[in-house]
Amino acid sequence: MRVYADNAATTYMSDVAKEKFIECLDKYNGNPNSLHSDGQRTQEVLDEARETVAKCINAAKANEIYFTSGGSEADNQALISAARGLKNKGKKHLITSNIEHHAILHTMAKLEKEGFEVTYLKPQKNGIVDVKDVEDAIREDTALVSIMFANNEMGAIQPIPEIGALCKSKGVLFHTDAVQAAAHLPIDVQAMNIDMLSMSGHKFHGPKGIGVLYARNGIRLINIIEGGAQERGKRAGTINVPAIASMAVALKDGCDHMEENMAKVSKLRDRLIEGLKDIPYSQLNGDPVKRLPGNVNFSFEGVEGESLLLHLDMYGIECSSGSACTSESLDPSHVLTGMGVPVEAAHGSLRFSFDVENTEEEVDYIIEKVHSVVQRYRDLSPYWEDLVNGKREHCIPE
Ligand SMILES: *Cc1c(COP(=O)(O)O)cnc(C)c1O
Repeated sequence: MRVYADNAATTYMSDVAKEKFIECLDKYNGNPNSLHSDGQRTQEVLDEARETVAKCINAAKANEIYFTSGGSEADNQALISAARGLKNKGKKHLITSNIEHHAILHTMAKLEKEGFEVTYLKPQKNGIVDVKDVEDAIREDTALVSIMFANNEMGAIQPIPEIGALCKSKGVLFHTDAVQAAAHLPIDVQAMNIDMLSMSGHKFHGPKGIGVLYARNGIRLINIIEGGAQERGKRAGTINVPAIASMAVALKDGCDHMEENMAKVSKLRDRLIEGLKDIPYSQLNGDPVKRLPGNVNFSFEGVEGESLLLHLDMYGIECSSGSACTSESLDPSHVLTGMGVPVEAAHGSLRFSFDVENTEEEVDYIIEKVHSVVQRYRDLSPYWEDLVNGKREHCIPE
């Protein structure tokens, strides 16, 4: 059996998204900036996609939607625009959390080198940022608050409407990285007082390499890519209409079926949580209720998440882990340690992320295999032996 349970890393393109992509390659392949008929037909498809995206997040106007190369670029542009744009008004302070995606954290680090001050809020134990902490962190010179809509690793959903209302009342810009939320959770940028928002096509069954920056009218964006006057002069480069149209269709599809999808996927999620929680010395990371419908993140003490992952892969189960032996750093997930999960427990973590294509049989298969793989690695682990012999203290209760 092959089980793809890594939809938070990337999704497969849906049939509607693929069809739209191919339709564009065949029929709307012009450059929308060209004045001839091919260009103009393509321009219409682009306009329609912009309208669709705007409607899905209840943006007031379609021209508040800017197409980018993905979530990372949208995050970069949002933060850089807010910081550099408000610098001459004496605002040099930014607020974010320590569990953000690296597209946010590394951009913040770059802005710190330019002289901005950044406050990194630590969430509560359940992975949710306390609104009171945001309020306490806001200063006279705060330009922007950037808090993600929902976390990509442990799924916690942040109090976005509350932070939006707070920022509005304090006159501070509010950006949210909604890459994991778009098409999966209801988003209303007006009701939630969101000034800027990032999305990415490949996290909701659209193509890779395409994303959206929503920026409320009145916000002055600063270019990351210089060149032609595309995207109201704010993002140069010949417009990738097939990817944009395909992404818009995927987003609309997710939004049109959101309620039923959420019900179905959260049932799979809860089934897996139920099936794993009887493994001794394991814990669910992230809030059990306020979490993405498809996200399950568990820590198992005394084992290496990466070993579990590779072993599960041999059984056809594809997931991800919060340990990072083979990736660029030896440190375990900054998200898990950032919310206070002990380093040992963060090393022994696995993330499963489901979508509507997954089934209960797949979940049951995962439950069976995780039980046996965790047991096998514990039996082999000197670290686990120390725990059993009382030479080390458990960091997760039984
Ligand atoms: C995937 C992801 C990104 C990056 O999006 P890309 O389109 O891959 O650049 C940013 N933020 C979060 C929360 C993500 O999950």
